[in-house]
Amino acid sequence: MDHLRRIGQLRRRLTKAGLPGLVVTHLADVRYLCGFTGSSAALAITRRAARLFTDGRYTEQAREEVSAAEVQIVKDSPAGNAIEWLAAQPGVKTAGFDPARTTVAELARWKAALPSRLRRGFLSALSAPLVEPLRWVKDEDELALMAEAALVGCKLFEHILGFIRPGLREMEVAAELEHRARLLGAEGMSFETIVASGARSALPHGRATGARLPRRGFVTLDFGVILKGYCSDMSRTVFLGSPRARERNAYQAVLEAQEAGVAAVSSGASCGDVDEAARSVLRGAGLAEAFTHSTGHGVGLEIHEPPRIGAGQTTRLLAGMVVTIEPGIYLAGEFGIRIEDMVAVTRTGGQVLTPAPKVLIEL
Ligand code: ZN
Ligand code: ZN
Repeated sequence: MDHLRRIGQLRRRLTKAGLPGLVVTHLADVRYLCGFTGSSAALAITRRAARLFTDGRYTEQAREEVSAAEVQIVKDSPAGNAIEWLAAQPGVKTAGFDPARTTVAELARWKAALPSRLRRGFLSALSAPLVEPLRWVKDEDELALMAEAALVGCKLFEHILGFIRPGLREMEVAAELEHRARLLGAEGMSFETIVASGARSALPHGRATGARLPRRGFVTLDFGVILKGYCSDMSRTVFLGSPRARERNAYQAVLEAQEAGVAAVSSGASCGDVDEAARSVLRGAGLAEAFTHSTGHGVGLEIHEPPRIGAGQTTRLLAGMVVTIEPGIYLAGEFGIRIEDMVAVTRTGGQVLTPAPKVLIEL
């Protein structure tokens, strides 16, 4: 990963925002900018220098991971130390921080640690995040990693198809999936695995429970792995036994909506239009009311990142973004269906990173 280039891009944004310094405390942002993966850190950036603050547990790790910034090991708050350091830099009269990533208590502590003459004006709340927009568009290294993570997801799906059978507990299915994920090199799951069977499939976020898979009915699987920090995310819904016409038609409608959403992805398309491409198919099938969430979201170092692909969203997709397309329908007390792919936005369209089968699989 080219961290120096990323810090350079951030500096250009700082200059544009008229800020001589910035403290970065959100760990995904810290990792993106300098490669540090520890759980306690703050990164201070000025137009000339970059310094990572972390504690003694990470002395070795920081030395191994971080080359684009100096490293300073501190005994107390990394962010507090980063701000003190910024305040001592020549020409740095003010420093930005991301209010969306800062608690009121943290801000009070930071201010208290500053010399009294700086308490009022030194820290400046950003009106919009500065680092995160850099992360929305992935570079080639990131895209390669995300494609790899997505393919691990596809392998997991293939594996779990041979495992699922009526009578198993949802948790056993999740456990098998997660165990296999680790064997395939995943650092962990990118969120709590969803295995929702029978009437529970009507819960959009049906975490795996002790419920047993029925003899006949849908099973929705939604899962993702983390590979070198990057998240994958995919959903498939399969059928145990043999579906009735109503179930088959509903599945077909979700599949068509999902494919319409994928087809609408391209650089320059607005997120609202992509959402509408999927939503209009379900509306046409009389299922508009059953589609209760957005069509998709960005994904990367975090499982949910901008852009949100939802109704009325005017944000435009850019080549290099990776988004999910995941329409679903939820009929309380009956069943639910969701199909989700990860799609990389390209200049001419979208490249599906999760090429696992989407036709209705009957087990
Ligand atoms: Zn998902
Ligand atoms: Zn998702």
